[in-house]
Amino acid sequence: MLQDVASKKIFILFSSFIREMSNVRNPEDLMKALVRITTKLANCAWVSVCDPNGNVKFAQGNRDSELSEELKSMVHWSTQNLTPSYLPGEQGTIFIYPLSKAEKIIGVMIGESLGELPIESADTMRILAFLSSTVLENLELYVELERQHNAVEETLRYMHEILNTFSQMIVAVGKDLKPVFSNIRYLDQAKNPLFEEEVKKIVQKVFETGTRQIQELEMNGNFYSIVGEKLEYEGEHQVLVTLADITNTKELERLKNIDKMKTEFVANVSHELRTPLSAIKAYSETLISSIDDLDNATMVDFLKTIYNESLHLERLLEELLDFSRIEQHMLKLERTTFDMMDLVRDVVHSMQEFAKSRGAELLVEQETQDTLITADQRRIRQVLINLVSNGIKYCKKDNSEKYVKVIVQSSEDFLTVVVEDNGVGIPKQIQEKVFEKFFRGGSSLNYEIEGTGLGLTIAKEIVELHGGQIRLESEEQKGSRFFVDFPRGADKHEA
Ligand code: ADP
Repeated sequence: MLQDVASKKIFILFSSFIREMSNVRNPEDLMKALVRITTKLANCAWVSVCDPNGNVKFAQGNRDSELSEELKSMVHWSTQNLTPSYLPGEQGTIFIYPLSKAEKIIGVMIGESLGELPIESADTMRILAFLSSTVLENLELYVELERQHNAVEETLRYMHEILNTFSQMIVAVGKDLKPVFSNIRYLDQAKNPLFEEEVKKIVQKVFETGTRQIQELEMNGNFYSIVGEKLEYEGEHQVLVTLADITNTKELERLKNIDKMKTEFVANVSHELRTPLSAIKAYSETLISSIDDLDNATMVDFLKTIYNESLHLERLLEELLDFSRIEQHMLKLERTTFDMMDLVRDVVHSMQEFAKSRGAELLVEQETQDTLITADQRRIRQVLINLVSNGIKYCKKDNSEKYVKVIVQSSEDFLTVVVEDNGVGIPKQIQEKVFEKFFRGGSSLNYEIEGTGLGLTIAKEIVELHGGQIRLESEEQKGSRFFVDFPRGADKHEA
């Protein structure tokens, strides 16, 4: 009967212990529960839970918060040997139970019973200590896990914050072409569907080629550099895309380039002016100093040279003035109606001597009868002279069949003049640049071929003022074709 009552008491204790254990969320709660139940079980004067060094973590009952040195050394002995100890106390038996798991000491339960500690209570406490150790270890693991989880979250938040301070837009994209991660700059820009489209394109390219892709992009007047890089996350292939606004860098580059070209231009123009001036000076000096010794034919020859060189100077100054008019938007057209074929023949005629001096043949081809046009004849003449003289200037020295051909053709919308040569050609990478102001390509840079780098800039401006366009087809070492399209009726619309 007595045994029945004892087992019932133990059963009730264990039930309440398990109930309490299921509710604890941290080690402190567990210690409190353990102390409470132990107090009930053994009718204790005091009970504490300490760390393995004997520092009290939680205490209940009539007791100093610090253990005496003697008790501390007993705690030490028990934890070293992983075994409980009992010793007589002032009010009953002092008991020490190490709380250990897999030989690792997690803490110590220490207390004093009121009166002698019954043997069955000691056994029950041993079991309680063992169970508490397991729960305590789990709780510590749980707390550690939570700490690590928080640390990971914190690191992630920190990284995100760093990525948000970047001026670049950053986005990681999965196989389904949907963003899996992005920084705030990208989110701001992603509202623009053009960006999304470009990101998709580069991602697809990286997936297709498996290699890093770098591109430049122009959007709404701004320039962007866009880089796609392979990325692997948890075994899944992704692409990391970074977009940087490089408009300022580009603009700086452009200004530096213009500055460099301007310097070259000044050197070039000085050279271009000096050559005819030197000739004029030398011939006129000879004329003055040797007028009595020269025969008539030589004198006429000298004067012709002086005249031709002054024409050259005049052309140069005209070109510079035209350029300055263009810069100030002061170039005005004076339209008349004329036959383009007449103009072409006239231009070719006036260039014959220059072509001959370079060993080039000038040809004319008429592919249409519809050659009347209303335009500024003087300006169109200037365009054609520039194109034909470029064709002659940029010929291949070693070619015995050099030619420049002017073809007049028409379509429903345009009257087109094509100036074709079989000269040195223009490399693909500079084809767009030849129309830029001051631009001079290749060998034209060292004064081998005369020029200012303004001819095509002026030609383009004149053609565009007529509502037309100038385009170019060229292959290195094969030759070039410049197409000048004048829209039919554009002039009438304007008028
Ligand atoms: P310039 O002839 O005074 O240098 P342009 O504006 O007429 O200036 O031409 C710009 C550049 O374009 C030239 O320096 C040359 O490199 C290139 N170019 C123009 N026309 C031709 C051509 N027919 N064949 C090859 N290169 C050409």
